[in-house]
Amino acid sequence: MKNGVVIVGAGHAGVQAAASLREDGYDGPVILVGDENELPYHKPPLSKTFIKDAEARPQPLRGEAFYTGHAIDYRPGIRIDSIDTAGRKLEIEGGGGLAFDHLILATGSRPRVLPLPGADLSGVLSLRSLADARLIRDLSAHSEDVVILGGGFIGLEIAATLRAAGRTVTVVEAVDRLLGRAVAPVVASHVRQRLEATGVRILTGTTVASLEGENGHVSAVVTSTGERLSARMVIVGIGAVPNVELAQAAGLTVANGIRVDQQMRSSVPDILAIGDAASFRHWFTGGDVRLESVQNATDQARLAARTISGHADTYSAVPWFWSDIGDMKLQMVGLTAGGDSHVVLGDLLENKFSIYHYAGDRLLGIESVNRPGDHMLGRKMLGAGFSPTPQTVAAGPDGLKAALAAFQQDEPARAAG
Ligand SMILES: Cc1cc2nc3c(=O)[nH]c(=O)nc-3n(C[C@H](O)[C@H](O)[C@H](O)COP(=O)(O)OP(=O)(O)OC[C@H]3O[C@@H](n4cnc5c(N)ncnc54)[C@H](O)[C@@H]3O)c2cc1C
Repeated sequence: MKNGVVIVGAGHAGVQAAASLREDGYDGPVILVGDENELPYHKPPLSKTFIKDAEARPQPLRGEAFYTGHAIDYRPGIRIDSIDTAGRKLEIEGGGGLAFDHLILATGSRPRVLPLPGADLSGVLSLRSLADARLIRDLSAHSEDVVILGGGFIGLEIAATLRAAGRTVTVVEAVDRLLGRAVAPVVASHVRQRLEATGVRILTGTTVASLEGENGHVSAVVTSTGERLSARMVIVGIGAVPNVELAQAAGLTVANGIRVDQQMRSSVPDILAIGDAASFRHWFTGGDVRLESVQNATDQARLAARTISGHADTYSAVPWFWSDIGDMKLQMVGLTAGGDSHVVLGDLLENKFSIYHYAGDRLLGIESVNRPGDHMLGRKMLGAGFSPTPQTVAAGPDGLKAALAAFQQDEPARAAG
């Protein structure tokens, strides 16, 4: 074990993997390599607060002393170019190599590029990194009109944030609803109504024909209906693609992400992959997925560290996600694709409600808007393998808590019987 573990990518997954290796007692070298020149930072605040506040500072995932204090050799500003799987060695861009016993690929994802004329004009930006967020913040200070392409979580968070900062914001979404299939239609239309009430203009079922510029800087977005939307800044938020090129070139199996098993091992067992870059069969649905969430990145990182430390745990974390869009805290737990009925608790008019999704009599997941208690209880229920009946849900949180407690009390008897 002289070369230890090398982790490529110092985002949410990579940093957690390094920390978890030490928590699990791993005492070999741990080298964390990242191509950004920053102390690793939290990404979610970038779209929610950072871009509207000139004074905001990045929020470090761990303080600088953490890395030295835990003998984690963090090397910023280094990009890995290729993997020699047989020789267990990495090639560093610009020269040099790095040997490993185990490799963890935590390379994340990057914004999907807009395949349109004018997409390379200055002022056409996307948001993934702190460097991107700084560009958006700086340009936004001099931009009255902002057009956001894509009505997904990041696009809508940015829309709400920049609207609150006084910009004129238009969102252009190709399909006929917001938030794709990530949330139920009732949640998507609620989000739309509230954003529109703040003055955000939303065009669904609308594609972009071209981007126009003046002196190399974007000046307008021309829609498929021929409307010309004036824009000093255009933010492209049309989804993300996993960073799999390193793995692919090294011959690892890739299918919408670097393919991993239940212990986060790739098709080359000493190379693991985690976070946005990894695709896997999800225990909860039995389907193949690639999840872009802080929960998935950190839980997979913990598991990868366990695997390297010789444990045989398998991935069983309950998936959850959050998004803050203006005055709405959206929280999702479970995976709700394939649901065929639902129960609503709370009140849409009060901007506080939860949707409990069912497939037959099995609770698949819960989407909450400003009802954090429902979300936390949902995490407990799904984590315990408890599926309350729709009638129990409809009776409200107190009845649900009691039903969960009764289920957990019966658990030993159920396991034995
Ligand atoms: C603006 C924004 C808001 C978000 N909000 C939420 C939210 O509210 N809730 C939520 O759950 N999730 C949110 N997410 C998603 C969440 O941040 C990601 O799921 C998470 O960052 C994934 O972690 P990761 O470590 O896999 O990837 P990343 O955090 O992207 O880290 C990957 C790192 O690897 C580096 N890298 C890639 N290739 C190489 C290479 N060859 N050599 C060296 N380094 C390399 C990348 O530059 C990057 O620094 C948000 C994401 C963004 C961008």
